[in-house]
Amino acid sequence: MNLAQLLHRAAAADHEAPAIALGPRTHATYGTLAGRVAALAGALRTRFDLHDGERVALLMTNTPAFVEVLFACWHAGLVAVPVNAKLHPQEVRYILDHSGARLCFATPALADAIAAHTAGLAGFETIVPVSTATAPSHEYHHLVSGAAIPVVPRADDDLAWLFYTSGTTGRPKGAMLSHRNLRAMTLSYFADVDAIAPDDCILHAAPMSHGSGLYILPHVAAGARQVIPESGHFDPDEILSLFQHHQGVGMFAAPTMVKRLVERAVETGAGPGNLKTIVYGGGPMYVEDLKRAMACFGDRFVQIYGQGESPMTITVLGRADHTRRDHPRYQARLGSVGRAHSVVEVRVADAHDRTRPPDELGEILVRGDAVMHGYWNDAEASARTLRGGWLHTGDMGAFDADGYLTLKDRSKDVIISGGANIYPREVEEALSSHPAVLECAVVGRPDPQWGEAVVAFVVTRPGHTVAAADLDALCLTRIARFKRPRDYRFVERLPKNNYGKVLKTELRTWAAHPADAE
Ligand code: AMP
Repeated sequence: MNLAQLLHRAAAADHEAPAIALGPRTHATYGTLAGRVAALAGALRTRFDLHDGERVALLMTNTPAFVEVLFACWHAGLVAVPVNAKLHPQEVRYILDHSGARLCFATPALADAIAAHTAGLAGFETIVPVSTATAPSHEYHHLVSGAAIPVVPRADDDLAWLFYTSGTTGRPKGAMLSHRNLRAMTLSYFADVDAIAPDDCILHAAPMSHGSGLYILPHVAAGARQVIPESGHFDPDEILSLFQHHQGVGMFAAPTMVKRLVERAVETGAGPGNLKTIVYGGGPMYVEDLKRAMACFGDRFVQIYGQGESPMTITVLGRADHTRRDHPRYQARLGSVGRAHSVVEVRVADAHDRTRPPDELGEILVRGDAVMHGYWNDAEASARTLRGGWLHTGDMGAFDADGYLTLKDRSKDVIISGGANIYPREVEEALSSHPAVLECAVVGRPDPQWGEAVVAFVVTRPGHTVAAADLDALCLTRIARFKRPRDYRFVERLPKNNYGKVLKTELRTWAAHPADAE
């Protein structure tokens, strides 16, 4: 089944229902959206002569055209390649080249920025600037108003989305996601994450090239609305004000975004308004931060753990897990990433892929309809990552006897000191419980005596300070002595990639060369 059918099904049921809002105002109904998508699909096939399975890149800040181009690609039997708008033009060029994209639809400023970097790309035709609220594009207008074509049939295993990983180390790889994968993700949203009514919406505060964009699908399936902030990026004040304007607001946010939203809501006294659900994930949420967020916005949280290779769909900590405060294992569950999504099997295995018993650590493996088909043009990495039919996530964790998974760290981030394994997450949890600590990250530094020594990088809240001795004393109350940092570095900010994930590789360099951190 072609995912584009979900859009046309919603449009047939209610032409006039709002499909996209830009800021507080309706931008397009389902009827309009479906018509523009069908016309754009026609242009992709006829004007640009694209054939089944060819790739089209989307390089956009959050904007309504993202939804149009995404569905038009599927409608036309093509593969969408959403690219993070914050990448350097050379990195964008790498993805255009590696994916073999024929076209790139881009918001005007990004179209200009990469124009000089597409010369000589084999098979690449052109950059098409899309229309935005402030900059109409004649060419784009022409493409979305031409002759419509019927939806091109697609098999379940045909590719729909090449999801380029954020590449915290090395070159990004293109996870091949099929129509089947994304349909499984869509259905598991309803089974495991949240219900969606037609009057509800998703507020795209996070980049649509990543998790927030994947969640377009369940909202289209439900005939609900996509709300796109006018700024096109994450501005806490704008997001808080949109909570007041729309009904049944859901959103996906990285933990760092949740934290910024909470800080701002506390500062301004802004309430949750019509916020229904914040789905958070993509990086560790420390328990103290989660409790602060629940105190601010109420019982409106669901956590997901996923990766591009099994998009948004490995485990889920549901709303009920956040609210059952009388449960004997409530605290432990809040610190976990929840249970397997209903469309995948998840297990924890040793180095020989043997399943480990409850409470024992191993690598997290995933199998099921949401798991990618492999990496685009990388047979070796595909075979390694999918060996034995299981996705090897590279994440370490342990299940408890109730089936709740606690994530430790990626195997390469584990610190081995004096022969003992130290999981940075435990130390970070301890440090984040200090009221003066805004953010922290823990890495290992080579040490002649211990092999590696634990180094903590700490960002304090504005106007606060804390002494290393106080943090040390705090650690003594919460974690084993040998896990305590041997060195504290107070820094203004943590290095992060374009999706806000802390770059531990860079921190390890900082740790090894003290001067770089100043
Ligand atoms: P990406 O493919 O860019 O979405 O990155 C996926 C990685 O982010 C996973 O392999 C995990 O290491 C991390 N991650 C995702 N969700 C969570 C979560 N809920 N808690 C902690 N780490 C997470």
